[in-house]
Amino acid sequence: MTDRRKALRPKDISAPAEVLSPVEHLAPLPAPLDTEDNPPVFTQLKEDWLDSRCCSLDGFVALDYLKRPESQEEEDAFVEKFITAVGKLFASTNNNFLQPLNLTIEYCAKCDTCSEACHIYTATDGQDIYRPIYRSEILRSIYKKHFTSSGKLLGNFTGADIELNWETIARFAELAYRCNLCRRCAQVCPLGLDNGMLTREIRKLFSQEMGIAPSSLHERGTVIHLDAGSSTGMTKAALLDNIEFIEEDMSEITGREVHFPVDKEGADILLMHNAGEFLTWPENPAAFAILFEEAGVDWTLSTDPLGYDGVNYGAWYDDAQIRKIALTHMEAAKKLGVKRVVVGECGHAHKALAVSADRMTLEDTIPVESNLTILYGLVEEGRLKFDPSKNDFPVTLHDPCNIVRQMGIVQPQREIIKACCTDYREMSPGGVDNYCCGGGSGFAIMHSGNFADFTSMVAARTKLRQIMTAFGDDFADPDIIKYVCVPCSNCKGMMRELFKHYKLTQKYNLHYGGLTELMVNALESTKEPYLEFLQ
Ligand code: SF4
Ligand code: SF4
Repeated sequence: MTDRRKALRPKDISAPAEVLSPVEHLAPLPAPLDTEDNPPVFTQLKEDWLDSRCCSLDGFVALDYLKRPESQEEEDAFVEKFITAVGKLFASTNNNFLQPLNLTIEYCAKCDTCSEACHIYTATDGQDIYRPIYRSEILRSIYKKHFTSSGKLLGNFTGADIELNWETIARFAELAYRCNLCRRCAQVCPLGLDNGMLTREIRKLFSQEMGIAPSSLHERGTVIHLDAGSSTGMTKAALLDNIEFIEEDMSEITGREVHFPVDKEGADILLMHNAGEFLTWPENPAAFAILFEEAGVDWTLSTDPLGYDGVNYGAWYDDAQIRKIALTHMEAAKKLGVKRVVVGECGHAHKALAVSADRMTLEDTIPVESNLTILYGLVEEGRLKFDPSKNDFPVTLHDPCNIVRQMGIVQPQREIIKACCTDYREMSPGGVDNYCCGGGSGFAIMHSGNFADFTSMVAARTKLRQIMTAFGDDFADPDIIKYVCVPCSNCKGMMRELFKHYKLTQKYNLHYGGLTELMVNALESTKEPYLEFLQ
């Protein structure tokens, strides 16, 4: 791997270059995809991107509304603003993150263990800019130069040698969007340092202090979420329309009544989906309705703004935004007086609601649980009865990072699959050692410029290898149906892109979908196949 590596020092981030570190080689995939992508062909940069945005890091563009300064004064002001923002990151007011940030910056032994754990670094056969610590090395150098006596006095001798200008800062901002925030690197670090967290701190610096974030996450994500009630733009009226349509459609397909209770006060469970499910994968919320009905669960949906959309894009880039959304989610739950909130199949909603929200809502917090533990409880109690022969095709499981590594929920989903399928194939490595799907931290919905090439061909590469390996020789056989169980809406979004890019369904009869759809398909009470590819 190392002979391909283009050795870059932190100060090279400011080196003059049209493209500092282009992706010229990708780690090969197993057969039959072994001849694809080398050398990789990416969408060409367009003239207008070159004029306005920063394309000079690796040739990809994540930040679609960065604007080049039109005068030296504008550039100087931009640089000053950035330096001030770096100072704020290391101030005591950043109290929740200051200690782990300082530890990650100060105590790295440069052992490189984290690099080998990072799927983006290994997918590019070891390209230096994708080392997890390349970002911390740059941040350390900038902090030293502008905020420590040794850096100010001795500069280059202490590694405080990065020259700041618009291009360098913009490259650094882009670099914060070459990481899925999956924290696999943090898990392997012998010193417990967390470069995933550090990367989010850099994103936060740019968003909170400089107003720079991908528009798909901020303008077309968080802002719409807070304005319309859902990041999809779906209003309450549209939600009710959709629900009615799904009820009719699914009742017709399944021959059983599918019903969504809404705004039921005092219910045991408020179920919060990623609202994208209602629009893109309606069979998923319908499957929850069928399972909860069959098991006799007392549950409801909320039609309050944000109450029907559990996503929280702030988790990926901004503390102020995550807090606003998390607080509104809790308000919706309190208003209905439910006993608990259950998060549907959405990984980052798990993180935002079950890990982060209770640290922000200090009073009257309503307990938040994962759908996986709830569903497993229903299976264990015998409230859902399966005929696994209805799912008699090979199934493998993708572990969403936020649910598995972040929350430690590993076994419930496996036990459920084993109860309702005949041929479960474990992905390796799995559980807390899983690899990100490649769509984590917002990548699955970031399609501006040529960024979709980066997600499908680079960030998702290791996941594709895992899927292929899990199915072994059966992968290439189009006569064998294969299913990748993906219990996360965001990860499904990534699968949609990945499957489209490599034509995985057309060529190899490979399918993906949620866990609840598999469960409904295997219910003893299900008369007709629920999974579309079996219909
Ligand atoms: S594993 Fe930890 S100590 Fe080693 S290089 Fe990575 S962050 Fe530094
Ligand atoms: S958080 Fe994940 S994607 Fe980011 S550097 Fe670490 S291992 Fe790589």
